[in-house]
Amino acid sequence: MSSTVHTAPSRLRDSHGRVIHDLRVSITDRCNYRCVYCRDGEDGAKYSELSNEEYLRLIRVFVSLGISKIRLTGGEPLLRKGLLELVTALAELRTLTGEPLDIAMTTNGHLLDGLAAPLKQAGLGRVTVSMDAVDAAVFEEITRVPKSFERVLAGIRAAQSAGLNPVKVNCVLLRGFNDNQIEGFARFAQEEGVIVRFIEFMPLEEGRLWTPDLVIPMNELVARLSGVAPLKDLPPNDASETAKRFGFTHGNGELGIIAPVTRAFCGACSRIRLTSDGKIRTCLFSQVDHDLYGRMRAGLSDEELGAYIENVVRYKEQRHHIGEPGFLKPSRSMVHIGG
Ligand code: SAM
Repeated sequence: MSSTVHTAPSRLRDSHGRVIHDLRVSITDRCNYRCVYCRDGEDGAKYSELSNEEYLRLIRVFVSLGISKIRLTGGEPLLRKGLLELVTALAELRTLTGEPLDIAMTTNGHLLDGLAAPLKQAGLGRVTVSMDAVDAAVFEEITRVPKSFERVLAGIRAAQSAGLNPVKVNCVLLRGFNDNQIEGFARFAQEEGVIVRFIEFMPLEEGRLWTPDLVIPMNELVARLSGVAPLKDLPPNDASETAKRFGFTHGNGELGIIAPVTRAFCGACSRIRLTSDGKIRTCLFSQVDHDLYGRMRAGLSDEELGAYIENVVRYKEQRHHIGEPGFLKPSRSMVHIGG
C-alpha cells in the first residue's frame, strides 16, 4: 500500500485543476549504469549538483506550499555524497498538516545492499529499484556493467530486510530487448514478495532509439502475464496512482503496469520535478526548465521563491504528446531530468 494520502492542502494548483503534492528531486545526474535504452554510452554528468543546504532550502519552500511527498532520484541517487545527511534533514520536515513527509527513492540498487539499513535509519520510507531483466546475462547486456545483477538482487533483499517497504521493482520493457523477461518477472514477484511494475518505454533517451514498435502496449502485456497465472484487478492506492495494479488469483505477489504511452495518466498528474542543478520541470516532456536555483542565488526571499514556484506550476503542461504528429523530444533526457 502507498502511504501517500492526498488530502493535505496545497497552494500548488495548475490551470487544469490539478493539485501538486509530489516533488521528484534529482540529487545528481551522474550514473554508474549505462543502460542501453537510456544513456548514449558516455560516462559524464552534464549538469551541476546543488549542495545539501541548497536543496534543503528549496525543498522547505516547496513543502511550505503543500508538497507532502519527496522522491529522491537521479542520475543514480546512491552516488550522492552526503545522502544520509540529506535524508536525515528531510525526515525532520513536516507537511502543512504537521505530518512527516513521505520520503521515497528510485535507484538502480547497485549500492543498496550496504545503504538500505542506514537509509531506513536516516528516515527513508520506501524504495523503488529499477531492474530490467531477471536473467543475469540479459541484465548485464542492458546495464553494460559486469556482475550488476547480483548486486541489485542483494540490494532488493537488503531493502526488504531493512523495512523499506513496499519494495517496488520497475522494469522498462522494450520489444526485442527484454520482452522475453515478462514471464520471469511474474514469477519473480511471487517468489521475492515484491511489487513488479512494467513501464512502457518513452522517448526520453539520450540517443534516438525510440519508435512506437519498441513499446509493449498494456493490452499485450496483460495477455502475456495472464498466461503465467490468473490475475485479479486491484484498486488504485490513490487518485494519482500511475500503475494499473494486478494481484494473482492464487498466492502472493503484485504486478503493476505503468502505461504512459498507450494509457496516459496526465489528467491525474500530481508531480513536478527539481533537477540536480535546481531547475523546475513541470512535465517530463517540457521544452523548458524554470531556473529556481538562479533566483535563489540572485537573492530572492523564501516568499518570493514560493510565489515564483506557484506561478510556474500554474502553467504546467496539460499532457504529453507522445506518438502525435509534431511531437518534440524534451529538452533533457531522463537521466538528466530525474525519473
Ligand atoms: N538511477 C535510478 C534508477 O535507475 O532508478 C534513477 C534514475 S532512472 C533515470 C529512473 C527510471 O527511469 C528508471 O527506472 C529507468 O528505467 C527509467 N527510464 C529511463 N529511461 C526511460 C525511458 N525512455 N522510458 C521509460 N522509463 C525510462
